[in-house]
Amino acid sequence: MTIPRSVTILGVRVDDVTYDEAVTMAEALVDRGGAHQFATVNPEFIMAAQRDEDFRTVLAHTALNVPDGVGVVWAARRRGVWLRERVAGVDLMQALCALASRRRWRVFFLGAQPGVAELTAAQMVMRYPGLTVAGTYAGTPQREEEPAIAARVRAGRPQLLFVAYGAPAQDKWLFRNLPLLLPTADARPGLLGMGVGGAFDFIAGVQKRAPQWLQRAHLEWLYRLIRQPWRWRRQTALLRFAVSAMLESR
Ligand code: UDP
Repeated sequence: MTIPRSVTILGVRVDDVTYDEAVTMAEALVDRGGAHQFATVNPEFIMAAQRDEDFRTVLAHTALNVPDGVGVVWAARRRGVWLRERVAGVDLMQALCALASRRRWRVFFLGAQPGVAELTAAQMVMRYPGLTVAGTYAGTPQREEEPAIAARVRAGRPQLLFVAYGAPAQDKWLFRNLPLLLPTADARPGLLGMGVGGAFDFIAGVQKRAPQWLQRAHLEWLYRLIRQPWRWRRQTALLRFAVSAMLESR
């Protein structure tokens, strides 16, 4: 397996991969055995990591940090690295479901509001016939619930685990629990976990994704801000990110 080229933005590693390469890597890691984690790094991740050491540790140990968001692609370019593709978490999740249906892997959908994981799984089975659902559960990212949720996931024996608790909770949850979800540390096939943020909401149709033309114009963030105005405080992270990234690459 070739290690992708990467760039460090404000202390966070971002890997230069295309969707196809990310899927190929996922397949190789699960076949190799053991527990592995992917993260979908966007500007909010990078800003959160500035003040959250635990989150920084998680992102330093993931097998792959895909560039999710044009902000990351832009910041990399300012550092002289041309990332070939923006890899959106929601799209990568679907590409991984396609792989799972081909390989007869079992997929567990954890997170979002009650009922949403079930709808997401149903959509994925419809789109990728043959996909085996290892389990679905909303749960919460709270520590007290962790052992019970981990037991539930372990019982489903998945090769893929998607967690929709939003960042950084989902990524920290995976970091703490992934190694506990396999019978042995190097069990084969292995397990790949990825935090997917609002992806279940988009796939289940609970939230609408920006139309293609807005995505192409790199304005998906603006669409989300208009539809979910209470996110404005979180979106100031985008502005802070732009300023910090600019200062870093001066
Ligand atoms: N969520 C959850 N439990 C929590 C907090 C969030 O299940 O305690 C879910 C929420 O329902 C949504 C997802 O986590 O499906 C996060 O969505 P958000 O849009 O905030 O994530 P982003 O894509 O911005 O990382």
